[in-house]
Amino acid sequence: MSASYERRGDVAVITLTNPPVNGLSHATRTAIAAGIDQAERDATVKAILITGAGKAFSGGADIREFGTPKALAEPALWALLGIVESAQKPVVAAIHSVAMGGGLELAMACHYRVAAPGASIALPEVKLGLLPGAGGTQRFPRVVGVETALNMIVAGEPAKSEQLAKLPGQKLFDRMIDGDLMAGAVEFAREVGAKHAAGAPLPKVRDLKATHPNPDGYFQFARNTVKAMAKNFPAPAKCVDAVEAAVKRPFDEGIKFERELFAALMQTPESAALRHAFFAERAAAKIPDVPEDTPVRPVAKLGVVGAGTMGGGISMNFLNAGIPVVILETSQEALDRGLAVIRKNYEAQVKKGKLDAGTYEKRMALLKPTLSYDDLRDADLIIEAVFEDMGIKEQVFRRLDEIAKPGAILATNTSTLDVNHIARVTKRPSDVVGLHFFSPANVMKLLEVVRGSATAKDVLATVMALAKTIKKTAVVAGVCDGFIGNRMLEFYVREAGFLLDEGCSPSQVDRAIEKFGFAMGPFRMNDMAGNDIGWAIRKRRLRENPSLKYSKTTDLLCEAGRFGQKTGAGWYDYKPGARDAIPSPLVDKMIADHRQALGLTPRKVSDDEIVHRLVYALVNEGARLLEEGIASKASDVDIVYLTGYGFPLHRGGPLKYADTQGLYNVVRAMRRFAENPQGDPAFWEPAPLLAKLASEGKTFN
Ligand code: NAD
Repeated sequence: MSASYERRGDVAVITLTNPPVNGLSHATRTAIAAGIDQAERDATVKAILITGAGKAFSGGADIREFGTPKALAEPALWALLGIVESAQKPVVAAIHSVAMGGGLELAMACHYRVAAPGASIALPEVKLGLLPGAGGTQRFPRVVGVETALNMIVAGEPAKSEQLAKLPGQKLFDRMIDGDLMAGAVEFAREVGAKHAAGAPLPKVRDLKATHPNPDGYFQFARNTVKAMAKNFPAPAKCVDAVEAAVKRPFDEGIKFERELFAALMQTPESAALRHAFFAERAAAKIPDVPEDTPVRPVAKLGVVGAGTMGGGISMNFLNAGIPVVILETSQEALDRGLAVIRKNYEAQVKKGKLDAGTYEKRMALLKPTLSYDDLRDADLIIEAVFEDMGIKEQVFRRLDEIAKPGAILATNTSTLDVNHIARVTKRPSDVVGLHFFSPANVMKLLEVVRGSATAKDVLATVMALAKTIKKTAVVAGVCDGFIGNRMLEFYVREAGFLLDEGCSPSQVDRAIEKFGFAMGPFRMNDMAGNDIGWAIRKRRLRENPSLKYSKTTDLLCEAGRFGQKTGAGWYDYKPGARDAIPSPLVDKMIADHRQALGLTPRKVSDDEIVHRLVYALVNEGARLLEEGIASKASDVDIVYLTGYGFPLHRGGPLKYADTQGLYNVVRAMRRFAENPQGDPAFWEPAPLLAKLASEGKTFN
């Protein structure tokens, strides 16, 4: 049973008991329906109260049952709401803490609602590419007004109960109860019980009218606004249609229409992608062989070594979370420079009104600059962010090993170096882990947690929990060059270079992939990051593998000193101080000369081919990462690309996208690319895992 039944005098109290948020699981729905039946049969019951135990009234559908037969098993949510609404005795919802999605829909099917202040009220379905499908789009406008309802349904964001209670003419809450909610709710239930025992008809939200003084103008306006905002997602526009139906159609027709829209959205690839991302993010937090109850080490104080670009940004994350930071440098100048950048970043936030001056000062007060390792002795976690040079990192880790207290976690922010090697420099390799933040580290959501061969499980559990505290999305990666994200990116960027050789311009490639939904194409991205970084990596790769194939245009660019935005020129030209990428005739000529020197005849490459070659380059390497166990789940690869590399959210990540295309088709396309006159058969050799899944008709996810 996931709901309890008890009596408080002549009031029957049904309490949802399905932690953590009283999701409307099959067992919970069944127990609520049974409670209503029991109360209806009992002549001594005058009113029924529904509430939730613990941290919520109800958070809505039980996500653990998503996609399983239980989600739709009877009584389905629709059926339950019918049972509640048609009860012959007044049903009162007593709302506290959280009433979201199906939970709010349940409350709106009750005859009355009372609420505690501070409760979060929301219909967040749009965030999964859906709309409220159990009457939410029809009942909510009837109780809070059309505009408030539509704004909240389209945004999916919560509002506080006390705010909604202040809306003129609102019918969402019949009474706000300060203090003891249950005492107040039982009293309210008793009052309405007496009233209806005397024969007064039961009020139902369905009998109210949702009205607007100028519905046609308003919905047209809403449609235009939503279209501009929602871009690649169909759900927000459907929310407008559904709420319009609440105004223009009788209730039952509106409900039918809502259900049709819901079912259609459920089938869209955009909703599938959002649901995939939602579950992938939760799954990323779980490490297969690290049990969820693994004890974590307390982290009350952080040390950071290196106050450069990354050290400063990393520190800000912890300061924002109220964790004191000691930051160490080699010279006072470097320290001053680092602190000045942190101050500048915070001051920009203050200027924009995103941070108040008091909070800013409080955060800075938590930061202690130092030149002495002694000040790191009591740190619980020390993150190294010095130059990307193994010799320097070895020195730093030897020193940390000498001074850090027993049990302190020692982390490196290296992007390319061997975390196992770094760990072995110390006498405590099990306390060493990679924490690969992305730049700018105070902004980017992604954190790759690099698990060394000796990293202790409680170290992993600790940094995963800490990632949540500093609001990062953490994904675990094994040790390899580039981890998950950058290792895949190298193939994507290499393929982009081949496209230039074959006839594309940088802007054609960028435009095609940006139209597909990427935040930024590969050439604009490299101009921002600095083309010299890739150049250095390429030189290293060529030393390891002299027969490596890649487009020499990228070297020509760097040899010409066009490193990107920082030198005012890269794949594009830049006006001083501006970031707008202007196609460069010089670069076009450089590419054309290069083709001629190689005897290549340029051909017209379609946008479709550009997109698939770039994305499938990612997919193939993603498959290899899975095969090698560097990534433990396909969905981890997707999360890395969605949160760290601007992969379009509505496509769910590279491997999810490959799944939706069908892996058989992906492999077939790769074979075709290999046969291009300038194609590289080795590059397009499908990863064994990909080939296997494709031949078995399976998917990654
Ligand atoms: P940076 O050059 O901006 O900063 C490095 C800082 O370390 C400098 O301020 C330097 O004075 C200091 N330093 C050097 N040796 C030191 C020592 N022995 N003790 C204390 N401080 C020392 O470099 P960055 O971009 O911040 O990169 C730092 C690390 O983060 C590198 O390992 C890099 O690969 C990695 N990383 C960088 C990025 C990025 O986009 N910049 C992204 C992810 C990871």
